[in-house]
Amino acid sequence: ALACGIVGLPNVGKSTLFNAITRAGIAAENYPFCTIEPNVGLVAVPDPRLEALSEIVKPQKVQHATMEFVDIAGLVAGAAQGEGLGNQFLAHIRETDAIALVTRCFEDPNVVHVSGHVDPVADLEVVLTELILADLGTVEKAQARVARQAKGGNKDAVAEVAAMARLLPHLNEGKPAASLKLNGEEQEHLRGLCLLTMKPLMVIANVAENELQGGPWRAPLEAWASERHASVVPVCAAIESELAELEPEEQSAFLQDLGLEEPGLKRIIRAAYRLLGLQTYFTAGVKEVRAWTIPVGATAPQAAGVIHSDFERGFIRAQTIAYDDFIRYKGEQGAKEAGKMRAEGKEYVVQDGDVLNFLFNV
Ligand code: GDP
Repeated sequence: ALACGIVGLPNVGKSTLFNAITRAGIAAENYPFCTIEPNVGLVAVPDPRLEALSEIVKPQKVQHATMEFVDIAGLVAGAAQGEGLGNQFLAHIRETDAIALVTRCFEDPNVVHVSGHVDPVADLEVVLTELILADLGTVEKAQARVARQAKGGNKDAVAEVAAMARLLPHLNEGKPAASLKLNGEEQEHLRGLCLLTMKPLMVIANVAENELQGGPWRAPLEAWASERHASVVPVCAAIESELAELEPEEQSAFLQDLGLEEPGLKRIIRAAYRLLGLQTYFTAGVKEVRAWTIPVGATAPQAAGVIHSDFERGFIRAQTIAYDDFIRYKGEQGAKEAGKMRAEGKEYVVQDGDVLNFLFNV
C-alpha cells in the first residue's frame, strides 16, 4: 500500500494525530486495523459512497479502500547533519510516497516548543530545509559516482549528470526538487535518487480548539503552502484524540456540540489519499461491496489487476456504471435498463467512483 509520512518538529502533535488516526480506524470503520510496525498504521479511507452503495446492494460485507500512515519522529534542526536521530528518520521518509508536514499553531504553556514560541511558518521552513539539505547530500554523492560513468562514455550517465547539474543550484536556493520544471527524461533520470523533496506535500495545521475555522495562523500558512502547491488541512489534535476514544453515538453528540460535521481525521485521510494520486473504483456484489484503490489515470485492465493479476492478463472488457447512475437507478439492473451500463475496453481510463464488473479469460 502507498504510505503518507507524518513529519514535523518534536511536540507539534504528530503522535497524538497518528494515534487518533489509527484508533479511529478500528472504531469508526470496523476494519481489522493492523499495526505493521509501532509507527506504521493501515487505515480505512472514509467514503460515504460505500454506505450509499450498500443500502442498494445490501451486501454481506463492506470493504473500504486502505492506505498507510507512518509516524516519523526525530526531525530536528541539523538532522541532515546527524543531529538528533540523524539520518535514521530520513530513511523512513524515503520509504513513504507523500509527506504530511504537521505544524503547531496552538499555544499551550504546558507543551514545550522547541524554538521557544509558536511560529508555524518558521517551523515548516526548518523542516523543509532539513529535507532539502538531505537531498543536496544525496545528489552530490550521486553526482560524483555517475560522473565517473559519464567519463566512460555512458550516454545515460551523461544525461543523468546534466539533470543533476540543473537540480543542484535549485536545491541550493532552498527550493524543493518538486518545484523545478523537469522534462520526462530528466524526471526518469532523477527518479532513482528517491529525493525527499520530490514527494507530494501537504500541511496539517494543528490549531487551537477555537481556531478551526480560522485564526492568525491561516493567512501566512496558506501563502506558504500555496507557493509549494500544497494544501492546508486544519485540525485540532487534542479534539481528535478525545473523539477517537468515544463510541460512535457519543462521537456525533460531541461533534455537534463543537459545531463540526465530521472528525478532522477524515479530512486528513482523504487529503492524503488524493495527495498520493489515488482514486477509487467500486465492485458491488451481494457478497461484498468494496472500494479498490488505483492511481489516477489507470486503465481498465490495470484496475482489474488490483483485484488479481489474472484479471489483468485475461482482460476482455469492463461493464461500467458511473457511481451517480448506479445510485440514481438504484442498482445494476436499473442502470442497465436505463442504458447506463457501458462496455469499456482495454484503453478505457477508469473514472473515480466507477462501479465495475470485469469479464476476462482464464
Ligand atoms: P510529537 O512530538 O509531534 O509527536 O507530539 P505529541 O503528539 O507527542 O504531542 C506533544 C504534546 O503536545 C503532548 O503533550 C500532547 O498532548 C500535546 N498536544 C498535541 N496536540 C495538541 C493540541 O492540539 N492542543 C494542545 N493543547 N496540546 C496538544
